[in-house]
Amino acid sequence: MRRLLAGACALALTGALPSVASAQSQTGTLFVQAGRLLADPATGKVETAKTVVIDGGRITRIVDGYVSEPGGKVVDLRDSFVLPGLIDSHVHLTGEQGPSSRLDEVTQSSADQAMVGAGFARKTLMAGFTTVADLGAENSAIFALRDGIKRGDVIGPRIIAAGSAVSVHGGHGDVNGFSEEVMHVLRPGSVCSGADDCRRAVREQVWRGADIIKITATGGVLSNTAAGLAQQFSDAELAAIVDSAHRMGRKVTAHAHGVDGINAFLKAGGDSIEHGTYLDADSVALFKKNGAYLVPTLMAGDFVYRIATGPNNFLTPAQTTKALDAGPKMLAMARRAHEGGVKIAFGTDTGVSAHGDNAGEFALLVKAGLTPLEAIQSATINAAAHFDLSAEIGSLAPGKAADLIAVSGDPLSDVTVLQAVKAVIKAGAVVKP
Ligand SMILES: [Zn+2]
Repeated sequence: MRRLLAGACALALTGALPSVASAQSQTGTLFVQAGRLLADPATGKVETAKTVVIDGGRITRIVDGYVSEPGGKVVDLRDSFVLPGLIDSHVHLTGEQGPSSRLDEVTQSSADQAMVGAGFARKTLMAGFTTVADLGAENSAIFALRDGIKRGDVIGPRIIAAGSAVSVHGGHGDVNGFSEEVMHVLRPGSVCSGADDCRRAVREQVWRGADIIKITATGGVLSNTAAGLAQQFSDAELAAIVDSAHRMGRKVTAHAHGVDGINAFLKAGGDSIEHGTYLDADSVALFKKNGAYLVPTLMAGDFVYRIATGPNNFLTPAQTTKALDAGPKMLAMARRAHEGGVKIAFGTDTGVSAHGDNAGEFALLVKAGLTPLEAIQSATINAAAHFDLSAEIGSLAPGKAADLIAVSGDPLSDVTVLQAVKAVIKAGAVVKP
């Protein structure tokens, strides 16, 4: 879980994202009868008594009333609120923080991590998240899981995978805090020093199968090193990373807490920021200039602060110091960004907090000043645009992937109802109940 540690961190991107096609498609026409339907979160318009017609994993039409046809299958959600499948822009599927996290790093094989990830992927999908971006995992484990889900070998959300984070030697994302012999064995090939070497690291990640390049622009809370939360890559390295990723059709997203790292990465042309803890007015202007998204990961800040101040703190002293520093500042950060007009894409850094709890982020976003509709937009249309997947996911319309969820109650008045998703359809396949 070095990838996980690199985890309490960030992401970005530009091009070649995975196909939304899925082997988990249904056969025959599906008629999803929705009591209330929020088809396009951009408008916020809720319609009543509609039927979403699905064929070959895609929506073919949305019609008035409750209709069906002989030979078709009806999904009765007349008592429910139906909306597009949710998107989490920042997870770590192959692990979960806990007292055994550091031991897992040296006891689990890549194959073990892929299997662990399959279990967490199922939990994530059942919680209503039909697409996720995994922003830090051992390369072969997460790419195998992504591809296995695509083939239909295991059930899970479609995954946009970064693989191993590009990081500086000794920084957040490298292996830290073990004996030197162990660290040499575990060190990922995505660690680099110097602009040319960082170009190599980016190119190698693309070669290995990364859909997006994730870097650790600053220190991070969960790396076991007292190296702070400030900028770690040099400006020249950041420029080389962004340039080499864009040349190969990949966006770059940066884990970043310290304002120096946030602003340097955005000045280098970076595509998005994960966490953003210490962002300032200059950062807000740079976000808007680049059209960059912020992925606030409020759940991660909330979780590490609660662990660090709780009776069973399993974090190391180096981690605890940083958790106490960054954790309590994240809500105010999201408020500053939102009020400043920064585009927000929903992301949780789940794997820090528990898989399946992802929708807990909605209430925190509302606490930071987003309306319930804005919070839902962040997890649908905004996240889809962030990954250049607006033509496929994020809203319900003819031609788009048939990713839908249903809840009881009205998420536009109480976002916590999204924490109890009762039905999930992914690419036209009914996966829950
Ligand atoms: Zn992370």
